[in-house]
Amino acid sequence: MDRRNMLKVFSGAGAGLVAAPGPLAQAQETARRGMPPLKITDVKAILTQPDSDHLVVVKVMTSEPGLYGVGCATHRERPLAVAAYIDNYLKPFAVGRNCDEIEDLWQSAYVASYFRSGVTGNNALSGIDGALWDILGKRCGQPLYNLLGGKVRAAVPLYAHASAREFPALEDQVRKWMAEGYRHVRVQLAVPGYAGYGVRADTAPEIRKMRPEGVAPSPVFEPTPYVNNAIKMFEQLRARLGFDVELLHDIHERIPPNQAIQLCKAVEPYRPFFMEDPFAPEDAAWFRTLRQQTACAIAMGELFVNRNEWVFLVAERLIDFIRIHISAAGGLNMARKVAACCEFFNVRTAWHGPGNVSPVGHAVNLHLDLAAYNFGIQEQNVFPERTREVFPGAPEIRGGYMYANDKPGLGIDVDEKAAAKCPYQTPGGSRGNDRRLDGTIVRP
Ligand code: MG
Repeated sequence: MDRRNMLKVFSGAGAGLVAAPGPLAQAQETARRGMPPLKITDVKAILTQPDSDHLVVVKVMTSEPGLYGVGCATHRERPLAVAAYIDNYLKPFAVGRNCDEIEDLWQSAYVASYFRSGVTGNNALSGIDGALWDILGKRCGQPLYNLLGGKVRAAVPLYAHASAREFPALEDQVRKWMAEGYRHVRVQLAVPGYAGYGVRADTAPEIRKMRPEGVAPSPVFEPTPYVNNAIKMFEQLRARLGFDVELLHDIHERIPPNQAIQLCKAVEPYRPFFMEDPFAPEDAAWFRTLRQQTACAIAMGELFVNRNEWVFLVAERLIDFIRIHISAAGGLNMARKVAACCEFFNVRTAWHGPGNVSPVGHAVNLHLDLAAYNFGIQEQNVFPERTREVFPGAPEIRGGYMYANDKPGLGIDVDEKAAAKCPYQTPGGSRGNDRRLDGTIVRP
């Protein structure tokens, strides 16, 4: 539809010299004249790897020539499965349907597979869902945050990553981010001799010697040295930096529940902004025990794919921040409801936002962050130039904040020619290489 006509209708222009029609008559006239049904004509999964991560984005074409939308469907570890789901199931399901019926398309696609809430289907649905919201924004001539209720903040505060093998380098990184205007920094310090999450570190020969006979070679992770090291890291950082900078840390569900509780209790005096993923989703009932023992702020949930995994955590106020990876949970249409649900319990959002969320997914995060009252913090990813070439309009970062470009819809595009120049190097990444000394697999 012609955007000028649309704006005319929205502004009430052209009401004429006779008596102005009432709101209902105006809406009927809008429906009759201004919003002809717009059909989905094609759905395309685009696979690209401009940097290290395997990205999946979706382009939805419409019956209005030149009008299309983009959405994020990135599951870095299983991208080909998501693309096959889109090509074989959601594309035939969506083509021919009305672009405006976002909710109905989401709900009907959600149950069409009968078995539901799986990560592959959620990501595939997120790609189409995001594109439909993008299309709606473009039709209305409005950035998406306005369709979500409008901005409640000018820009989105970010947290940066600091990770190092040695403490002095970690402190330097935190100070560097602070000097750039950041007030929130995630800190991850290598455990001497061991592998760990969030920082590249090799297993020392003396640690390897402690393994029993017959263990296949792998990096070694052990919970106790990690917990001891993390507590010491917080103690040293607060001694050197004071308490004005907000420090965050990701446990990444790697340790037994009782040790996660010990860790959160031990760092409580150092007042982390949050401790992330102390338990695996499978151990979520442990949050009841944790909450009774410490006031340490808790963020949880980048692996959540099913509402039943997290609703009780919110309703019982067992966590402080929800950390869902939006595409893995079903996309923007689901995430806007997650945010609304959390607001009623004063749980804040901290959407997952590293490099395995595509720039389109970061744009979704951005629009929700701008419009959600109960926003908490946003994880940042600084996209390399090559990635920005594939995704023109990617959210911009300045001085610790992420900004929207205020273009209609998500404000981001995918350059298919540039994407084609960055094909996958492998079928997709695998996780879970670290093992304990005795050879037991460790969660990634
Ligand atoms: Mg995490």
